[in-house]
Amino acid sequence: MYIAVDDTDSREGMCTTFLATELIKEFEDLRLLDYPRLVRLNPNVPWKTRGNGAVVLSFRRGRSSKKKIGDIDGDLRYLKGKPKMKEDAFKRAKNIIERFSHLQSSKTNPGLIVTEKRTPESLYEKAVKDIVELKDVIDVLEDDVYRYKGYGNKRGLIGASAALAWRPDDFTYEVLAYRREDMWGKSRELDEEDIRSLDRRIDGSFDSYDHEENKQAIAPNSPCPVLYGVRGEYPEELQKALDIVSGEEPDRWVTFLTNQATDDHLQEVSISKAKPWNSISVQGKVCSNPKTIEGGHVLFEIEDETGQITAAAYEPTKGFREVVKKLIVGDRIELCGGVRKDPRTLNIEKMKVLELGEKTVKIRNPECPECGKRMSSMGTDAGYRCKRCRTKADEDQAIREKVDRELSEKWYEVPVSARRHLSKPLKRME
Ligand SMILES: [Zn+2]
Repeated sequence: MYIAVDDTDSREGMCTTFLATELIKEFEDLRLLDYPRLVRLNPNVPWKTRGNGAVVLSFRRGRSSKKKIGDIDGDLRYLKGKPKMKEDAFKRAKNIIERFSHLQSSKTNPGLIVTEKRTPESLYEKAVKDIVELKDVIDVLEDDVYRYKGYGNKRGLIGASAALAWRPDDFTYEVLAYRREDMWGKSRELDEEDIRSLDRRIDGSFDSYDHEENKQAIAPNSPCPVLYGVRGEYPEELQKALDIVSGEEPDRWVTFLTNQATDDHLQEVSISKAKPWNSISVQGKVCSNPKTIEGGHVLFEIEDETGQITAAAYEPTKGFREVVKKLIVGDRIELCGGVRKDPRTLNIEKMKVLELGEKTVKIRNPECPECGKRMSSMGTDAGYRCKRCRTKADEDQAIREKVDRELSEKWYEVPVSARRHLSKPLKRME
């Protein structure tokens, strides 16, 4: 039996993954069959609350596994009591949702689904890459195998059903530690040096610390119940974080299986097919030199045989902008990022330099083709003239020298603190 939930948080607090821990507590009479799943969906949807992540729990009657995957009021691995029916499970889950969701916020529109059957995989594909309409989801859910409820405008049903549709191909894990309720909203006291050491001390972990900006990246700034989350490839390795990070003591923790850091959201398209709110990967040629606009954003144009789009490295991408500024017209690159609607702009998440164009600077005036004397400039971009024999030469006759591009034909990515949950870090691409 699966329980899927989405959109229970608001800017003022809560987190759907925390609500999942309350569901696990409620269903302690059943065996948790698998890691709880945290499924991130299209990061570009205009109405998302915060991280746009939905949660799926799968339970089964029977004995529990031996593996420890969390701690909620005691080790999370036991099973006790008798099996319960779907209808009963639905009522119990509904109580939890109504108790913990931020239903008072108009932007919080929870969805709950209890079922024995996953939803069609195509639903995940569409929801992680594009926009899914509520009516399409309701069409799927209007089947007796699904017991569901949507609150408010019912948008949470889209995320919940899409998360139920995820069949992990590529995946990672995140250990999430939560705060005691009396700490919610207060500042988080965690040892910065311990956090800095995580990527080094935990095999396969990533994005815990932004070494470029010297900023921790595991604890959120929101008033939500999350103390911190540590991401990586191996669940047992990640549990070490609980011993390494000192400071505020977690109240509970759970390991989630996630689609984070997989690039599942990207679609390879030609530029003319770049639709607003989609995340894409495109290849093309830089066709205007990067310029910095007000606010510190860096913009340039890229084109392929089908069209042209403005690409942007926004201010929060910090040092990545310095890389982008080194591009020149003619460079061949691949860009990954989300497409903004108005103005239509590609918000760069990472970039691969495929082929660098040649950059030269003028080092001296040309020699006269008639008499060999060094020619004189007639002004900026106005060409040259020989003072001795009056011969003229165009500007492009100047003697030029190749300049080191300070870029290599490889991938570049935005710093950890500007990275999307779904973006695959370069560390995972090697
Ligand atoms: Zn001459």
